[in-house]
Amino acid sequence: MAEKRDYYEVLGVERGADDDTIKKAYRRLAKKYHPDLHPGDKEAENMFKEINEAYEVLSDHDKRSRYDQFGHAGVDPNAQGGFGAGGFDFSNMGMGGFGDIFESFFGGGGGRRGGPMRGDDVQYGVNISFEEAAFGCKKEIDIKRIEVCSDCEGTGAKPGSQVNTCTVCGGTGQVRVQQRTPFGTFASSRPCDNCGGRGQVIKEPCHTCKGKGRVRRSKKIEVSIPAGIDSGQTISMRGQGSAGAKGGPPGDLLITIGIRPHPIFERQGPDVILEFPITIVQASLGAELEVPTLDGHVKYNMPAGTQDGTVFRLRGKGIPYIRSKGRGDEFVKVNVEIPKNLTERQKELLREFDRTGGGSYEKNKNFLDKLKDLANKGAKQSRKSKDARE
Ligand SMILES: [Zn+2]
Ligand SMILES: [Zn+2]
Repeated sequence: MAEKRDYYEVLGVERGADDDTIKKAYRRLAKKYHPDLHPGDKEAENMFKEINEAYEVLSDHDKRSRYDQFGHAGVDPNAQGGFGAGGFDFSNMGMGGFGDIFESFFGGGGGRRGGPMRGDDVQYGVNISFEEAAFGCKKEIDIKRIEVCSDCEGTGAKPGSQVNTCTVCGGTGQVRVQQRTPFGTFASSRPCDNCGGRGQVIKEPCHTCKGKGRVRRSKKIEVSIPAGIDSGQTISMRGQGSAGAKGGPPGDLLITIGIRPHPIFERQGPDVILEFPITIVQASLGAELEVPTLDGHVKYNMPAGTQDGTVFRLRGKGIPYIRSKGRGDEFVKVNVEIPKNLTERQKELLREFDRTGGGSYEKNKNFLDKLKDLANKGAKQSRKSKDARE
């Protein structure tokens, strides 16, 4: 149940890599793992396949942007209808409209009639909390998928009943066809019609699967959700989808993540945004604030004269980067709350404050500062446009 590797990781390039970098990385790796250079080496062959698959997606602008947005599910050739084609809308998952878990089957499969068929992919959505997304978690999900029938072990025959070897293909499931062409005689094989490619003919079909050899079952699967995952991203679990038919490989399990909103934090990629209320006294005199973060409260010394809407940054207090080292930041925006329902005594103190010149002096000072800033900016801009002309 190997997880499908990230395409950028496969090619060893940054997420924002340009076309040229991707091409160079692909050429270097394709040369290194080319099957001709490693005859019989299964691992090299798989690497080569993986590299080609990654390059096929990342070298195509359309596929790449879908991959960036939806992960492997966005470019899965078996995901019929898929994303963006009206298949699913995850946009309001955070609102709890779906419940915690929903599921669906993709069509997919295809394959030659009668021959081995790849199993269907199974698509799942899981809603997790803000913290679970930030730090990773394990979730047990209950999926429904097509499995090999355990009663007949996939043969489709009633246990103990007679199963005869197909007389047409001699049990191989394949019949050889010779074709004469002007270029010579070619031999090819196709699935046997008599036994449907099974190689065996069943007298009494299995009750459980009605002779199909496969049944729809519920299965509990534990999913490791990596720290730093974002809403809409998909985890692919290779081979955990529905069983294939007639010796075909199983499909994949594709788990798309939704994140429930946090009561106070908001997320922007790896960064956490927090709006933090302060009083006019704290803003004016400065204060040691106890600011909530994902790791608990931290102390922050806010300077005197902090203006409403000021944003300060707590480095490394954001979300861990997915499958990588380091973390984003927390941005704290202070909201200065203007007091309401003042007592007579408080009002008197404020009037006193005003009489001492406090309010108006500050106001005028700020106003003059802003004017000065504007004048400076104007001067810089006209210099810039003059440079551009020259
Ligand atoms: Zn069965
Ligand atoms: Zn046959």
